[in-house]
Amino acid sequence: MNYKLLFVTNNRHKLGEIQKLAGDRLRIISMNEAGISEDIPETGETLESNASLKSWYAYHKTGLNCFADDTGLETDALNGRPGVFSARYAGPDNDHIKNIEKVLSELQGIKNRRARFRTVISLIIDKQEYFFEGIAEGEILHECHGDKGFGYDPVFRPEGYECSFAEMDMDQKNRISHRGKAIQKLMEFLQENLHLQNPS
Ligand code: IMP
Repeated sequence: MNYKLLFVTNNRHKLGEIQKLAGDRLRIISMNEAGISEDIPETGETLESNASLKSWYAYHKTGLNCFADDTGLETDALNGRPGVFSARYAGPDNDHIKNIEKVLSELQGIKNRRARFRTVISLIIDKQEYFFEGIAEGEILHECHGDKGFGYDPVFRPEGYECSFAEMDMDQKNRISHRGKAIQKLMEFLQENLHLQNPS
């Protein structure tokens, strides 16, 4: 384990996903481990601004090189909603079931189910900020399928697959997901610029 990087999240699914992708090259530290116990308000109007405000907050507080991500589910028929409001679409408590129900009810009777997950990562290395984006195209199913993953996974079928994200195991989802792609770009950047060891 050589390079230490703070991931500004306490979401254990995400921490697991990225540690798996990074392998031995990076030691990923969570917000808790870095001593940030407060919630960082996501007051931005775009995924970019939310990712950025979280990473700068953590950088100023800890002095650690870090990155933060923000993800939204963008549906064409709903003009990009829930988008930046994905976490709290049905109310303040970030209730995944209610969020899914709201999207499904808004799409009821609508043929165009086209949607995408978009992830933006803001990375801060020595006071310099870099952005990475990952997109997974797909469609919104009519009901929930599968019980893996989190969030809108049970109702999202990625393009080219017959099953939802919630029916895939973590490795398979990571290879094709929005966050997987954004993290892949982040890892390539770190590999080039920080001269990390190759994965073992
Ligand atoms: P966050 O910015 O990563 O916290 O994502 C905001 C919201 O988007 C989450 O609360 C989830 O509802 C949803 N979301 C983010 N990533 C995923 C994913 O990989 N699968 C399903 N839903 C996700």
